[in-house]
Amino acid sequence: MTDSTRHADVIVVGAGPAGSSTAYWLARAGLSVFLLEKATFPRDKICGDGLTPRAVRALISMGVDIDAPGWSRNKGLRIYGGGSRIELPWPELASFPDFGLVRSRMDLDELLARHAASAGAELVEGCNVTGPIIDERTDRITGVTARHKGEEITFHAPLVVAADGNSTRLSVAMGLERRTDRPMGVAVRRYYESPRHTDEYMEAWLELWDGQRLLPGYGWVFPLADGTCNVGLGLLNTSKSFQNVDYRGMLKGWTGQMPPEWRFDEEHATGPVRGAALPMGFNRQPHYARGMLLVGDAGGMINPFNGEGIDYALESGRLAAEIMVQALARRTPAQRERTLYEYPRILKDEHGGYFTLARVFVQAIGDPRVMKFLTAHGLPHPSLMRFTLKLLANLTDPKGGDAFDRIINVMQRVAPAA
Ligand SMILES: Cc1cc2nc3c(=O)[nH]c(=O)nc-3n(C[C@H](O)[C@H](O)[C@H](O)COP(=O)(O)OP(=O)(O)OC[C@H]3O[C@@H](n4cnc5c(N)ncnc54)[C@H](O)[C@@H]3O)c2cc1C
Repeated sequence: MTDSTRHADVIVVGAGPAGSSTAYWLARAGLSVFLLEKATFPRDKICGDGLTPRAVRALISMGVDIDAPGWSRNKGLRIYGGGSRIELPWPELASFPDFGLVRSRMDLDELLARHAASAGAELVEGCNVTGPIIDERTDRITGVTARHKGEEITFHAPLVVAADGNSTRLSVAMGLERRTDRPMGVAVRRYYESPRHTDEYMEAWLELWDGQRLLPGYGWVFPLADGTCNVGLGLLNTSKSFQNVDYRGMLKGWTGQMPPEWRFDEEHATGPVRGAALPMGFNRQPHYARGMLLVGDAGGMINPFNGEGIDYALESGRLAAEIMVQALARRTPAQRERTLYEYPRILKDEHGGYFTLARVFVQAIGDPRVMKFLTAHGLPHPSLMRFTLKLLANLTDPKGGDAFDRIINVMQRVAPAA
């Protein structure tokens, strides 16, 4: 790339799952799109690497070949807590596949970015976006400035997408601050060489103790089928202990209680413990304003019930792309704008009520007595746990479905979206 000024229909900033999905769907519809990524692939992203059937569905609809080598497939979730252990297969549904996947983000993100590029998006790696270009007359974003190979470049487009993750410098530069009335999570993870790497279940451990205090969150063991497991834990800021937790110490203490033959120890760790924040429950809004759309973590789209963010990144990217394709085909600026404002509205329709339920739930489990009661009394009841799995992983059929689906769907509909 040599020109220092470039033009396209849409600029997408950040090539994580949200940005790559957005760029893929835009390119598929025939729009010209820059996908600007500050890192160079392959690059790591601190994550649990777990993909629920909801995320698998999103990958399938993008035409990602999930039968190719490199994917670790799983049947469901094994949950430990309150002295019990229960295996819950992923539900049988019309709307979702009945399996989950695990794939390291080192692989997954490169694969998705290349997938977007092969659909026609222009992926520019090593391109650090430094700020928005704002038209003084309209007060709208009309492009971004960037540094690429030591050169200053400006990219221009009528629409810009912030897909730059939790810190989303672009949104901040556009004046969009984080909402503090939404839950935040912090999670740490580490890879270990382990004989458990081909386990057919993803695992969730519900009891994380800080001394005598039971904390809201869970530990996970996700098998990568490449000789390693991703082992980590995440906590929510709804607990009083949140600020003072020694995450690394807690991970060590927790894995230290596991059977030694699983090898979740110093000797078998393949790298350091690394941690990052999880922005949840739409903690940055509005999701559209002044020519810019927010997708994935930039828009705080992690599900507070379970910490899942990849699926919501992929789904929001697709929705944002569909709206932009329609908007750019409208004849007048007013018509375009009306269409673009559909993005936050539909997003809220789809996930707003559900995220409100999740916020109530995570507030409640911030009280250790509630958390203790739920783990002790919930786990021994398989049908209650099947319901819980559907609720926490957001896996129901919208029409038809069983009684659990209908209850969850009604709860989502009546909960106010905010
Ligand atoms: C420890 C941990 C465990 C997690 N486990 C899971 C899990 O098991 N399953 C799950 O579904 N979710 C999990 N999540 C959440 C998940 O990682 C995120 O929700 C997901 O990565 C969001 O994708 P994204 O594309 O919005 O953002 P990101 O994946 O953060 O991608 C943002 C991209 O933007 C780029 N970028 C940033 N700034 C710029 C810039 N200025 N210029 C150009 N590019 C830029 C970054 O380099 C990056 O590639 C976990 C999160 C954490 C912290």
